[in-house]
Amino acid sequence: ETTRDWLAERARTSSEATALVEAADGTRWSYAELDAAVEETAGRLADLGVRAGDHLGVLMETRVAFVRLVHAAMRLGAVLVPLNARLTGPELVRQAETADLNLLVCERETEADAVAVADSAASTAGLPVASVDSLDADGVAALREREPTDFDPAAWSRADPQAMLFTSGTTGDPKAVELSMSNFLSSAVASAFRLGVTPDDNWLLCLSMYHMGGLSVVLRSALYGTTVVLQEGFDAGNAADATAEFGVTGVSLVPTMLRRMLDARDSLSNSLRFVLLGGAPASEELISRCEARGVPVHPTYGMTETASQIATARPREAFAHRGTVGRPLLWTDVTVVGEGDEGDERDEESRDDEADGEGGNEIPLPAGETGELVVSGPTVMRGYYGDPAATNETFGEYGLHTGDVGYRDEAGRVWVLNRREDRIVTGGENVHPGEVVEALREHPAVRDAAVVGLADDEWGERVSALVVTEDDATLSVEALDAHCRERLAGYKCPRTVAFADELPRTTSGTVEREAVRERLREARD
Ligand code: ATP
Ligand code: MG
Repeated sequence: ETTRDWLAERARTSSEATALVEAADGTRWSYAELDAAVEETAGRLADLGVRAGDHLGVLMETRVAFVRLVHAAMRLGAVLVPLNARLTGPELVRQAETADLNLLVCERETEADAVAVADSAASTAGLPVASVDSLDADGVAALREREPTDFDPAAWSRADPQAMLFTSGTTGDPKAVELSMSNFLSSAVASAFRLGVTPDDNWLLCLSMYHMGGLSVVLRSALYGTTVVLQEGFDAGNAADATAEFGVTGVSLVPTMLRRMLDARDSLSNSLRFVLLGGAPASEELISRCEARGVPVHPTYGMTETASQIATARPREAFAHRGTVGRPLLWTDVTVVGEGDEGDERDEESRDDEADGEGGNEIPLPAGETGELVVSGPTVMRGYYGDPAATNETFGEYGLHTGDVGYRDEAGRVWVLNRREDRIVTGGENVHPGEVVEALREHPAVRDAAVVGLADDEWGERVSALVVTEDDATLSVEALDAHCRERLAGYKCPRTVAFADELPRTTSGTVEREAVRERLREARD
């Protein structure tokens, strides 16, 4: 009998090792216990009719039941489709339709949304719903009350789709990214090489499992033999305390979470070996705080389409070269193509050609030159599910177009500046918002900032900034302007500035630029 199931293989080789610890009460699951629980879940799903190749939707926050479903899907050969539990009913309906779900599993808190999804749209009518909790609604099956039935162990091929994850929807509607077992395997191996992961590592999971960062912690744990310390919901103080209480050696966070943990506690446990930071740029100021506190931070860059990180810096590199995300991981190529600061008009046209399927002339750029980051390697997705046009548009001669603008330095390190579409053109000059944000953050009273272009009759676009000040700090627009003028060419300095208590962000930590624009428009008028 051939094993294709990572957890089953792990349970055979390290049955007594700890697979999972629940941070709330210290409940411990050995690999043998988790394996038995997953076998039961898979049997109950089989009883509900789930078969290999089916699309299994999951609508819940991070908890043990979700972990069981992740492994059970692999065991059955079902394609796992996690949905963002913070979306509204209509948004969920759209995603459920896109993903062609065969079953939707929810929890008590998300039951109403799940029922609404099942009821509403034509293509999901008849979508069965099951809950992992006891329930109130009619027509919802209680998963734990089903009798586990026998099923055939999945006959995976590594190229088969294993999961479908939605992008965060920063630049438009979330897209359904289809990823194979091979994508996840390659990304797990490449990441372990860079970080030096061993079975003795304890990985704190406090991210949502419907984004890549959280899901990959769970998937990879069985492959690595690490222990997952699972925290339901994120609380900065508790998360910081958990690092000491459970001897945590690794954690994946978005920058905002780490900032809150450093605000909440004077120190993090010295058991920590890697703090992976991704999803959004880590500011130089945050990196400095990590260096001062001895926090071993690893800035990483990746996207849903690449099954998690494709470049990761190690602490020494992160401290010496603030702002870099490090070199690409094993097997991954990152090429900087196309548009430098000059010739944007021509490149804009050639990109349009490409979108029309005529093939543009992309030019790989040398070290130090800024362009779009293009990725190829074994972790890159098969495509966007059910959207061949979007898939075609995304792939070019050198690989997957990330939509992110950046460069590689002489040493091959990757630097991410901002998204392609966030570039501001003012009076015919290009401004990269990332550069302006860094300059703003250098002001001691500035905690965070977002920079966007607002339509402007005279300049085309005007550089505009939404600024979050440090608690108790007072800062005038004039003082901020003087600060910027010392650091940036005049045309890059924000002409419209507004202050806010917090930046609007998506659930994966990226800035919601349209919301920022809205706030700045209000401030201007
Ligand atoms: P959508 O594709 O729907 O617009 P999204 O791109 O935000 O949403 P994700 O796949 O979750 O969805 O996020 C990947 C993006 O996050 C990257 O393309 C990049 O813009 C940003 N990102 C990730 N890590 C970093 C980083 N270290 N520095 C800067 N940006 C980052
Ligand atoms: Mg994206």
